Amino acid sequence: MKVPAVVDPFGTWSREEITAAALSTATDLRAVLADTPQQNSAGTASDVGPRIALLCEAGSAFLTALLAVWEAGAVAVPLHPDHPDRELAALAHDAGVSAVLCSERRSRIAARLAEDASVPVVRVDRHLHTARGAVPSEPTDGLHAKPPDEAALMVFTSGTTGRPKGVLHTHGSIGAQVQALLEPWGWRSDDRTLLVLPLHHVHGIMAVVLCAWAAGATCEAPGGFDPLATWDRLGSGEITVFMAVPTIYHRLIAAWDEADDSTRTRWSDGASRVRLMVSGSAALPTSVLDRWRELTGHTLLERYGMTEFGLALSNTLDHRTPGHVGYPLPGFEVRTVDDDGDEITPDRSDEPGGLQVRGQAMFRSYWDRPVETESAFTADGWFRTGDVAVLDTDGYRLLGRSSVDIIKTGGEKVSAIEIEEVFRLHPAIGDCAVVGVPDEEWGQRVALMATRSPQWAVPSPGTADLRSWGKERLPPAKVPVLFTFVEELPRNAMGKVTKAVVIDQLTTAPR
Ligand code: AMP
Repeated sequence: MKVPAVVDPFGTWSREEITAAALSTATDLRAVLADTPQQNSAGTASDVGPRIALLCEAGSAFLTALLAVWEAGAVAVPLHPDHPDRELAALAHDAGVSAVLCSERRSRIAARLAEDASVPVVRVDRHLHTARGAVPSEPTDGLHAKPPDEAALMVFTSGTTGRPKGVLHTHGSIGAQVQALLEPWGWRSDDRTLLVLPLHHVHGIMAVVLCAWAAGATCEAPGGFDPLATWDRLGSGEITVFMAVPTIYHRLIAAWDEADDSTRTRWSDGASRVRLMVSGSAALPTSVLDRWRELTGHTLLERYGMTEFGLALSNTLDHRTPGHVGYPLPGFEVRTVDDDGDEITPDRSDEPGGLQVRGQAMFRSYWDRPVETESAFTADGWFRTGDVAVLDTDGYRLLGRSSVDIIKTGGEKVSAIEIEEVFRLHPAIGDCAVVGVPDEEWGQRVALMATRSPQWAVPSPGTADLRSWGKERLPPAKVPVLFTFVEELPRNAMGKVTKAVVIDQLTTAPR
C-alpha cells in the first residue's frame, strides 16, 4: 500500500491529491499574476520571478502552496501566520510581494496583509477540496522540473542579531539541501515524520517537509508544537523521524516529568521506537541530551545549519558525539580560518576559527542587499558563517556566533556556549544565556541571565555563590561577574535566545 504524503487535521492526503491541488492553484495564481503589476524595486534582479507571500498552516495547505508557487514560476515567501500584522506587513513590503496565497483558516490575516500591500489573495483550500480523490493523469508527478538557477524561495533570517534579511534560494540550492540529507539520514518511503517546527524557516521546510516529499514519505502535521500531543504521537510508535530544536526537547522533558507513571512508560516506549531523532538550530545543552537519552534511549543526532545554506554539518547515524555537530554533509566544503583569513590546517587543529562553508546549496543573494551579499563571501566563494568552531577528532564543535557568543574580555576570547553548559548544571538554574556586556576597563564582561530551576525552592543564589560555582569549574576569565534571574529568557519563534535582547535587558536593568 502506498503511504500518504501528508496527514493533517483536515485528513489524509495522497501525493496525487497534493499534486493536483498544486497544479490547479498554480493556474489560478498565474491568472491573478497576469492581471497584477509586478513589484520590482530598483536594484531587483529582473530574473527573479514575482514573490508570493504564503500564509498557510503546516500540512497539506503549506505544501500545496509551495509547489503551486514553483509551478507558476514564482518565488515563495513563507511567513509565520501567528506573527503580528505589522511584522508580516514589513516583510511582505521588503519582499515586494505580488500576491498572498493562503489557507481558509488564515484568510482573515491574509486579507489584511493583502490590503496593506494592495495585492490580490489566492486561496489554496478550494483547490485541495477539488483535488480530493485525484488520481495521476500522467505517470510522472505532473509538476514541471525547474531550471536550477531560477529563484524559488525567500526566507527571512531569524533576526537574532539584527533586522531580518531576505535570503533568496534557487531550485538548485534547495535541491542540493534536500539531497544532502536524504542518504546520510537514511530517509525511506516508509518513513513517517512528525512536523512540529514552524515553516517560515529552512529547518522545517527543508529537513522535514521537502525531505519527506522527496523521499515519498509521510509528513504528519498537527499544525504546530504542543508537548502533550507531540508525546502522544511519539508514544504511538508510528513516527520514525523527528526533527526539533533544543527548546522543544526541553519542553518535552518537562511534560514527561509531570506525567503519571503509566503515561511515562507509554511515551518512552513509543519514542524509543522512533528511527531517528535530530536536534539543531541552537546548541543542544548536554543536560538535555543526557536526560533525553534516559527517557527514550536516543542519543540525539546534532547537526548545524543556517538559513543561507540549509544544513552543512551533521553527526552520522552511526557516530554521534555530544557537544559536536559532526562532519560536512554531501555537497558541502567546510573549513575554519584564523583572524588573518588563513585556513586552519590539521596541524593547528585545536585552534578555534571562523567557520566558512561552500557548496551548491548556498543561497543566491540577500534580497535587495548587494553590499551585504558581497561582503558575506570571500574572494574565492566561501561563505563566512559568523560562527566560530574547532575541528577535533570527533568533528566540528561550535563555540558560538562571533558577534554575540564570543566574548572578548581583558584580551581573552571566551565562548558563551561553554560557560552556559557549566551553569546549566547548577541546581538553581533551569536555563541560562551568557553574553558580553560593554565595560570600559575589560572591553566586555561576562554576564549571565538565568531562569530558576522548578526544583529549586529556596531564594535564588547570590553572586558570590554563583561565582564560586564558576571558579571551581572554569578559568577566571570565563566566570561571569554579573548574574540576573528572570522568569523567561527572551526567544524568537524558533526558540533561540535573542542575545541582543539579553544584552539590552542586562545593560538597561537596574542592578
Ligand atoms: P538560522 O539562520 O536562523 O538557522 O541561524 C543559524 C545559526 O544558528 C548558526 O549560524 C548558528 O549560530 C546557530 N546554530 C545552528 N545549529 C546549531 C547547533 N547545532 N549548535 C549551535 N548553534 C547552531
